[in-house]
Amino acid sequence: MEINKPPAVSELEISILGGGKSYGESLVLHLGNNEWGVIDNCNNQKTRKPLALEYLDKLNVPYEKVVFIICTHWHQDHITRITSLFKQCPNAEFYISDALNCKEFEHYICLKSNIKSNFNAAGEFKKLVEYAQTSNRKLTRVTQDQLLYKNVFEGKDIELFTLSPNEATKKYFEKSLSNFLAEPTDLSTVAVKPEPNLQSIVSLLKAGSHTFLLGADMEVVADNDLGWKGVINSKALTNSNKSIYFKVPHHGSENGYDEAIWNKLVLKDDSIVTTTSIITGKTTLPTKQMTKTICDFSYDFYITSNPVETKTIKHPSKIQKFINFQGIKITKIPFEFGQIRFRLNIRDSSAKPTTELFGASIKVDCANNS
Ligand SMILES: [Zn+2]
Repeated sequence: MEINKPPAVSELEISILGGGKSYGESLVLHLGNNEWGVIDNCNNQKTRKPLALEYLDKLNVPYEKVVFIICTHWHQDHITRITSLFKQCPNAEFYISDALNCKEFEHYICLKSNIKSNFNAAGEFKKLVEYAQTSNRKLTRVTQDQLLYKNVFEGKDIELFTLSPNEATKKYFEKSLSNFLAEPTDLSTVAVKPEPNLQSIVSLLKAGSHTFLLGADMEVVADNDLGWKGVINSKALTNSNKSIYFKVPHHGSENGYDEAIWNKLVLKDDSIVTTTSIITGKTTLPTKQMTKTICDFSYDFYITSNPVETKTIKHPSKIQKFINFQGIKITKIPFEFGQIRFRLNIRDSSAKPTTELFGASIKVDCANNS
């Protein structure tokens, strides 16, 4: 298990990187023949470099080989310093959700980007737009059922399709944002409604008869045209097999889960499912309950770091009193990120995929997860 070992030219790869406090999520795809794609960005907290690029360095892959970057949505844990990633990959097409293509969103970004905070996702989005304008590089807005990448390799089509956002999402977001902006609100304290997750770009990678479902942070909502219910109507799914790989949406959160969708889109038992863990406020994802639910579907469930380890340790009251009396500040050391590397040789149709773990990543012990 050598992280520096590049994939064979005929090996398709999906590496998921991230996890933990203040990390986020980034996917690195090898599309065959030394062509690469990156979905979302998060940084190494020590070096401040995009994890995706540090990984490509390890493989000796020049950044010119990155043919596309997708920013699934503009939440902090997916967009952190994505402009820097874009700058360093000179040949990459850059894709963003077309749901963000409205004057209301432009207005919102303008207002919100001026607010001072540790990290301002709207500020990063503004930076991205400004960089694209000044460098003459394009931000391509994408909708449902678009073919973003195609290559014929080893006699097989390698294709990447978008499964979202659909027209209904675009209209819904525009209207909700317009209502939101009409109310006098303090933008420094109020989060935008609806949540950016619904505008996520969910994508489907196809290599010959195999499919790989990359769920971004898409959620399940009641409306039949929005969220995962909108994704399922995607034409790109017609004549597609169930996926052997699923990047579970929204860090394994309950609001990204709908059993019917898993049954329709993902191979039961024979699939490999992965996600990044995350801490938001007091919540650590995925929860124990959701971990069990996912395990019931697939025993091959991997997380980029152990979510249990992030919980605050409770000290007995005497010890806690002593700690307080001494004025000792105990800060939790954020755990390291992990990487789950999935590879499948597309040259040989009977080849089995391999899954390798690096850093803090874990395979969930589904047999004992009750
Ligand atoms: Zn996220």
